[in-house]
Amino acid sequence: MEKIDTEFLILGAGLSGLFAANLLSRHKKDFIVLEKESFPGGLARTINYKGYKFDVGGHRLNFSSSQNLHFTKDILEGRLLRVKKCSKVFTSGKLVNYPPELIDCFKFFGKTGFKIFLELMRNKNNVHVDSLEEWVETNFGQTLYKLYFKDYTKKVWGIAGNMISKKLAQRRIGSTNLVKMLKNIFVQTGDSIENQQYFYYPEKGMGSIIDKLVENISGVDRVHFATSIKDIQSNNNGTTSLTFIKNEKLYKANFKVLISSIPLIDLLKALDCKQNGFERKVLYRSLILVNLLVDEVRLSDEHWRYIPDPDIIFSRMHEPKNWSKCMVPNGDKTSLCLEIFCDYKDKVWDSDKEILFKKVKSGLRQINPQNGFKITDFCIERIRYAYPFYYLGYEIFVDTIKNNLNMFNNLVLIGRTGTHSYFDIEECFDNVKVAMANLLF
Ligand SMILES: Cc1cc2nc3c(=O)[nH]c(=O)nc-3n(C[C@H](O)[C@H](O)[C@H](O)COP(=O)(O)OP(=O)(O)OC[C@H]3O[C@@H](n4cnc5c(N)ncnc54)[C@H](O)[C@@H]3O)c2cc1C
Repeated sequence: MEKIDTEFLILGAGLSGLFAANLLSRHKKDFIVLEKESFPGGLARTINYKGYKFDVGGHRLNFSSSQNLHFTKDILEGRLLRVKKCSKVFTSGKLVNYPPELIDCFKFFGKTGFKIFLELMRNKNNVHVDSLEEWVETNFGQTLYKLYFKDYTKKVWGIAGNMISKKLAQRRIGSTNLVKMLKNIFVQTGDSIENQQYFYYPEKGMGSIIDKLVENISGVDRVHFATSIKDIQSNNNGTTSLTFIKNEKLYKANFKVLISSIPLIDLLKALDCKQNGFERKVLYRSLILVNLLVDEVRLSDEHWRYIPDPDIIFSRMHEPKNWSKCMVPNGDKTSLCLEIFCDYKDKVWDSDKEILFKKVKSGLRQINPQNGFKITDFCIERIRYAYPFYYLGYEIFVDTIKNNLNMFNNLVLIGRTGTHSYFDIEECFDNVKVAMANLLF
């Protein structure tokens, strides 16, 4: 068995693990990173298929802090685009803007527009809510919930909105300021239009941030890819060492601090830390991406199209070229990314790739029957741990596990997957900065 001694051992070379490594590198600390896959980036990687680039579902960047914006601009050497948003929902056979513009509301909703307005204005003080459905209905009203959220939520999560925690709505909808955005449509609150109308996007895809984070820590062989963690050893003072396999060879890494950005359930398994069955309650929603190469110059002007219709297999689609022209190898061609939500090892997850391709083509015909286009090739990616699942009551299990893990006083959980939190990229940056500040200063 080969031995490695290091001060910090980071698990996972996704955005959070690599960002933590960058902060350690800046402070001239000794560290190594272990990654399960043969590539870095996790959910923030960009897949390159025959010169066509696809994110793991289109990623857009919104910054609430200028420090994060400047960091991202600097690391990308200025190659960060500011893009005007265009999203649509295909609902009741119509394609409508999302969020709706005033004119669409009255064109599409007719008299219902007035009802929506009254519901939005209703006093919400002292209303107790638990579920996503209650949260959305309280903030937006029942009519908007039915029109915009009900079917889509069920399709994305596989269960109805009254079975999902309000925390998901607070994170997904609250953090995008959609409440203010929708109010703005109806009552012109004058809220900042920056986050509502624009987003940032790396010219060469989200993975170019990952490439730069890796580049910044290279030179020394610090990231070990294609590793398989065997177990983590501990004593009364915390975790002490970890054994892993790489290229069929067994390694033992001794460390002072263990930083984990890998799924909680993988970490518990490696620690052999049973949690009275609570670990089985840490759930994830999985995702299949069907990426199409298309022999057309352009298919749409949208960044996102949402498809709540339960008869269509995919729930979201986007055309990467509309985010950056660098996402296709030449200007005469385009591509599409279709997102299918499912559970790990369910019927959809286990579907053969040709069947998925056929169902995607059929869904595309339903959305746009008269507009055939030539698909020249496709590739499929299956993402097991795409979303931490915030079902109603999940907190009791996740919080208990995290509290129990506090007994390892040199174990630090970071990032979206590591903390089982619905973080976007900026929140990962912020979370890692706080965690590392506690370790470094
Ligand atoms: C479909 C989709 C769309 C998104 N859109 C946006 C967006 O528009 N804007 C935005 O800001 N954010 C978006 N996000 C969120 C963003 O991708 C994440 O917040 C961020 O990438 C999480 O990074 P992470 O490093 O915390 O987790 P991960 O990316 O999950 O990294 C974990 C890493 O650990 C590795 N790993 C797993 N198990 C092991 C193991 N046993 N041993 C070693 N390594 C292991 C994984 O391979 C991975 O590299 C989106 C996410 C998804 C899924």
